[in-house]
Amino acid sequence: MGFQHCGIVQATRLDKEARQLEDWLNRGYQGQMSYMERYFDLRVDPDKFLPGARAVIMMSMNYQTELEVRFPKISRYAAGKDYHQVIRKKSKEFIRILKERYGEISIRAFVDSAPVMERVWAEKAGLGWNGRNTLTIHPRNGSWFFLTGLMTDLEFDHYDDPIRDHCGSCRRCIDACPTDAIHPDGYLLDASRCISYLTIELKEAIPSEFTDKMEGWAYGCDICQEVCPWNRFAQNTHESDFQPQVDIHELSAEEWLHLSEETWNKISAKSPLKRAGLEKMKKNIRTLMSPHQNNEAD
Ligand code: SF4
Ligand code: SF4
Repeated sequence: MGFQHCGIVQATRLDKEARQLEDWLNRGYQGQMSYMERYFDLRVDPDKFLPGARAVIMMSMNYQTELEVRFPKISRYAAGKDYHQVIRKKSKEFIRILKERYGEISIRAFVDSAPVMERVWAEKAGLGWNGRNTLTIHPRNGSWFFLTGLMTDLEFDHYDDPIRDHCGSCRRCIDACPTDAIHPDGYLLDASRCISYLTIELKEAIPSEFTDKMEGWAYGCDICQEVCPWNRFAQNTHESDFQPQVDIHELSAEEWLHLSEETWNKISAKSPLKRAGLEKMKKNIRTLMSPHQNNEAD
């Protein structure tokens, strides 16, 4: 079905991770992403997400392409069609196959937007280790992949094991992050300082302490993945839906600023970029072009 790796793990309560999530929220690292504060019980207890849950089936899907990222920069994961739509379709098909084989099992899919700690499950299921940049990294494929999973009441004879952390003494992601969003010891992200958050989630103008640190990113940021040595091993995806949409990636800053609502609606319909919206994209690009101008009034 085009998934890169698959790992299966028992659906147990995430007690240690619950404490870590609570600490992360108490520090205010979620910024305006208040949805992270909701459904706490579902995030840490599989039985609340799917009553009777026994296993979590985690999968990764590669999105790496030949794309040459240029100004105004858009994160690689947003190059192709909206991964939610692409992966949801595959998950449905996977569920259909499982039900055909095992009968009326209870099963629920998640891809990014559900209250599930995907990176935690991915690490437990051996899809990679969670690196100092807080992303899941596979020793042969790096980190340019989406995570998705299924929770089910099916029981398995065998479960997968985690793989060990291979970050070693490397600190490249911490040193390269322009906004100091990664904790000095790594493995902890202040999302409210991350360029991905500033360019996509933050409703207001980007605070002046960050405006000259954006390094040309208009939607998301890939710096801590670009510098990660494990991404040397990443291969290009075979998934046609993740190939770059040229009508978006070839727009210059000027063209972005003059883009009409009508054209935007057409080109963003199947793109993850619609999460930010046209006004936010224009605001981001104006900030990149004039970082010292007071854009609070925008
Ligand atoms: S995505 Fe960019 S801003 Fe966010 S932690 Fe990584 S390097 Fe820093
Ligand atoms: S850049 Fe280095 S420290 Fe950061 S995630 Fe990659 S291997 Fe780990």
